Amino acid sequence: QQIQIGISACLLGEKVRFDAGHKTSNYCRDELSRVFHYVPVCPEMAIGMGTPRKTIRLVDHQGEIRLTATDNSFDVTDAMREYALGKSQQLDFLSGYIVCAKSPSCGMERVKLYDGQSGYSRKAGVGIYTQILMQQQPLLPIEEDGRLHDLGLRENFITRVFAYHDWKSLIA
Ligand code: SF4
Repeated sequence: QQIQIGISACLLGEKVRFDAGHKTSNYCRDELSRVFHYVPVCPEMAIGMGTPRKTIRLVDHQGEIRLTATDNSFDVTDAMREYALGKSQQLDFLSGYIVCAKSPSCGMERVKLYDGQSGYSRKAGVGIYTQILMQQQPLLPIEEDGRLHDLGLRENFITRVFAYHDWKSLIA
């Protein structure tokens, strides 16, 4: 039985991005798929945003982080949090997760975070969905697609997934 890991759906070629495009990771799709069974998730599609859709971004309103349309026409923070909380519990069988970098929903770190007053951004945000997933499953190995091109980081991630899978099997 293959080890199951979650993955941002756009990395497998699913046309779920804001522009109805995808962000296929050849390495994930063609190589790692021989080792792992994927459970693809697109949080933005899951909360009903559809394709094509307006882009969203993380905005810091004096310490309160919101996930809003780039043109400020809507706010999906609460919907995304609620979805992420429920989904994190449903996905407790996973042994790892690969997320799409830079996304305000899926990004793991260094996501653009805009200042609500000045409008300037700094690479200091965490995607709302992944942030809640990490809070709910703190031991789950998570990595960004781009970092898997680095041999050392790749081996480190795969090793952590196998170790976590073994540990979960032991305590089951
Ligand atoms: Fe969907 Fe996440 Fe990919 Fe954005 S980064 S298209 S929310 S799976």
